[in-house]
Amino acid sequence: MRWSKILLPTLKEVPADAEAISHILMIRAGLIRKLTAGVYCYLPFGLRVLAKIEKIIREEMNSEGAQELLLPAIQPCELWQKSGRFEALGEDMITFTDRHKKLNVLGPTHEEVITALVKNEVNSYRQMPLILYQIQTKFRDEARPRYGVMRSREFIMKDAYSFDRDQPGLDVSYDKMYDAYCRIFKRCGLEFIPVEADTGIMGGDTSHEFMVLAGSGEDKIACCKKCEYAASLDKAECPEPDHGQRTIDHSKKPEYLKDVSTPGVSSVEDVAAFLKASSDKLLKTIIYVNADKPVAVLVRGGHEVNEAKLIRVLKSNNLEMASAEVIKKTTNAPVGFSGPVGLTGIEIIADYSLKGSRGLIAGANKADTHIIDIDMKRDVQVTRWADIRSIKENDLCPRCNLAGINIQQAIEVGHVFKLGTKYTQSLGATYLDVQGKANQIIMGCYGIGVTRIIAAYLEQNHDDCGIIWPWAISPFQVIIMPLNTDNKEIMQKAENIYKLFIDENIEVLFDDRDIRAGMKFKDADLIGIPIQIIIGEKNLAQGIIEIKLRKTGQREKIKSGEVVPKVLKLIDDLQAYPEPEGI
Ligand SMILES: [Zn+2]
Repeated sequence: MRWSKILLPTLKEVPADAEAISHILMIRAGLIRKLTAGVYCYLPFGLRVLAKIEKIIREEMNSEGAQELLLPAIQPCELWQKSGRFEALGEDMITFTDRHKKLNVLGPTHEEVITALVKNEVNSYRQMPLILYQIQTKFRDEARPRYGVMRSREFIMKDAYSFDRDQPGLDVSYDKMYDAYCRIFKRCGLEFIPVEADTGIMGGDTSHEFMVLAGSGEDKIACCKKCEYAASLDKAECPEPDHGQRTIDHSKKPEYLKDVSTPGVSSVEDVAAFLKASSDKLLKTIIYVNADKPVAVLVRGGHEVNEAKLIRVLKSNNLEMASAEVIKKTTNAPVGFSGPVGLTGIEIIADYSLKGSRGLIAGANKADTHIIDIDMKRDVQVTRWADIRSIKENDLCPRCNLAGINIQQAIEVGHVFKLGTKYTQSLGATYLDVQGKANQIIMGCYGIGVTRIIAAYLEQNHDDCGIIWPWAISPFQVIIMPLNTDNKEIMQKAENIYKLFIDENIEVLFDDRDIRAGMKFKDADLIGIPIQIIIGEKNLAQGIIEIKLRKTGQREKIKSGEVVPKVLKLIDDLQAYPEPEGI
C-alpha cells in the first residue's frame, strides 16, 4: 500500500478531548475518528488492526471446536422482560419503538437471543456440548463514554455461549474458553492477569475477568504480593477476623455513651481531626434503599462500602443510596450525622471488621452531633454481619494469609461466566436426556472486548514517539521510507524493494509522500510499524540501506541487494513469540 493512496491522517497535536494515552495515539496515528460521544469511525489503518485481532480470536475459538454464527443487533424487548434483565440494565439499554409500536433493544449482549435460538434448535443430549460464538457490534448507552474506544457506546465484542447437559460438562467448556482466552491475549501481545470476579447482573456462580494492568484502567484489582491470588474488588474477600465476637467484661463499668458537639463537621477525615481520633475509630453509617426499604450499612472509617458485595448479601435487584429526604425520615438527622445507636425499625448490616470493636465514634442522629465510646456489642443492634467492604492496600491476603494485598488499576478485556440455568430456566430451554427425561440446559458465556484490546495494548506498548506494534496485530509489517522523493535513484530503489516485498506477500506500507525526511521519521515512529527500511541519499551512494526496528530503535546498515532476505529473516524471528529484542 502506498501512503499517498491510503486514508492515514496522522496528527502532530494531542486531540483536546483525549486523556488516555491509548485514545491520544489512536487519533494521532489515524486509527479512529470520533463521530459523536462514545461513537468512533475506524479508518483503514485501525480496521487492519481489528481484522488481525479478529483473526487470532477466530483461530483460537475454532481450535476449541466453537462454531461461529451471527446474531442480530435488533432484539425484541419481550425477550429481555422474560429474562428479567430489562430493568437491571436500565438506562444502559438503547431502545426504540418501531412503526408497529413494538419496543426493540439494540443488543448490549446476546444471552437472551442465543438462548431463544437454542431452545428451538437443541432438543437432545446428542446435540451437546455446543459452543457458539460471534464477533458483532454491541450497544450500551454509557453514562460517561470516555477514553476513546475503551468505554464507548458502540463497540465490537466477541461473545461465545456454551450449552451443556450438566455441570461437569459446563466445567469442561469453561476451561476450554478460559485457556483459549489466555492464548488470544498472549498472541495479541497483552500482559494480563485472570482474576476471580463478581458475576453481577449476568448471573451464575463462577466468573473470571481478564485484566490488563494500566494506569488509566477504570477497574481495580487486588493481587497478593506473595501467592497467586488475584480478584476484582467486587469479589476479593475480606473474611471475618478469626478472633470472633468479644465477650463483654462485666467486671469493668462501661463508659457511658457521650454526645459531643461537632458543628458542621461530618466527613470521616474532618470528624477524626476535630475529635483528635484515628479515622479507624470512626464508624460510617450509610443509608441505602433496598426495594423501597431503608437499610443502614456500617463500615469502619477507613473502609469503603462495596456495593456489588452489598447487592449479593441483600440479594437485591434494586439498591440505591438514600436521598437526603429518606435519611432525614429514617434517622431524624440531616445527611452526615447518621449513626447506628438507637436506630430501630430498619435492618442494620455491619461489616465483619467492626465485630467486637469498642470506643467507636458515629453520628448521633442529631444535627451537628456525634456519639463517642460506642461498643458494637453493647450499643448497636446489628441484624446481620457480612463482608460488605472493598479490600484495601496491605490488607492480609484472604487466600494465603501470609502477605499483603496490592491494589492495581486495570482494564478488563475479557470476562467468562458459568451461568448455569439462569437464562435457560427463564426462557424455557430444555433437552431430553438418555432416559427421555426433560432437563434444563446448562449454560456459560464468554466475552472479549475486541475494540478494547487495541486500547489496552496501546496503554502497555508505546513510548514518547508513538505506538510500538507487536508483529501479530501490526497493521503493516514493514514501512519503506525513501527520504528524498525527488531523487530518481532513491525512488527507483524504493519501488524495486516495494515490489519484491509484495511478491513475498509481506504487508508493506510505502511512504511515497513528498514531505521532509524529518516528518517521515516522526510519522513512522508514531504509527509504530515493526520494521522501517530507510533509503537515504548518502547511504545509497555507497550501496547501503538502513533497517530500524521500531521496538528497540536498533539500526543496521545492509547492502542494498540484501535487504529483502534480511527482512525475511527478521520476519521469521518476529513471528515467534515472544519477539526477539535485537536485529
Ligand atoms: Zn496470598
